[in-house]
Amino acid sequence: MDEPEGPDRRRDELARNLAAVRERIDAACAAAGRERDSVSLVAVTKTVPASDVATLLDLGVTDLGENRAQEAGTKAGEVAGLRPDASPRWYFVGGLQRNKVRLVLPWVTRVESVDSPRLARALDRAASAAVEDGSRDGPLPVLLQYSVDGDLERGGVSDEGLAELADLVAGLPGLRLDGLMAVAPLGSESDRAFAAIAGAAGRLRAAHPGATEVSAGMSGDLETAVGHGSTVVRVGTALVGDRRITSR
Ligand SMILES: *Cc1c(COP(=O)(O)O)cnc(C)c1O
Repeated sequence: MDEPEGPDRRRDELARNLAAVRERIDAACAAAGRERDSVSLVAVTKTVPASDVATLLDLGVTDLGENRAQEAGTKAGEVAGLRPDASPRWYFVGGLQRNKVRLVLPWVTRVESVDSPRLARALDRAASAAVEDGSRDGPLPVLLQYSVDGDLERGGVSDEGLAELADLVAGLPGLRLDGLMAVAPLGSESDRAFAAIAGAAGRLRAAHPGATEVSAGMSGDLETAVGHGSTVVRVGTALVGDRRITSR
């Protein structure tokens, strides 16, 4: 038989990638002495079309990550059309401008990139209005994005700002503070970065016991992340490939 072409071939590729990522998470949990169900996988689908997302849902993925408000809203609509029975959970993991908040509210399950009082207040206003008009059941779950190295260009709140932002968010009726998100710098500093993330997550949890989620770890570093206590890994490239690179 010939190699399957087109959609079948892509489906096989995604299935293989997904199996490999799940094996990596299994192994990382085993190595860290953690229960497998203490770590969830968010498939970051920002680089791929709705058809790939639909295939991932067919393969058992339930949690999806996106980082651009407008594109993601369009894609979420397309995916709902392709798989009306699937009801995936969508996580917003990118920089979010206040004027884009209303674009994500209708489809987002959790915003993981809250890094300023202004953004928090804008999300609170939008979520509260949605609760009021009956389009939402309850407060919007959010994570605070923590900047590991204090390089605020890439988004995130530094150590100094974290406690204050957490207290603010915890007091906003439209939001529910679920934990911390971070993007670790790659490379040799990775272990130290995840230790710093774990430290910040611990301080957050001490002040806000409900803030238990730690979303950290990507294609290149998920093992280190799981070793340091991440509860969510956000994996893009290892699952869907990298369209900009034809072979690796
Ligand atoms: C793209 C992205 C990921 C996934 O990164 P990969 O290295 O492709 O796995 C995770 N988190 C955020 C915030 C991203 O933007």
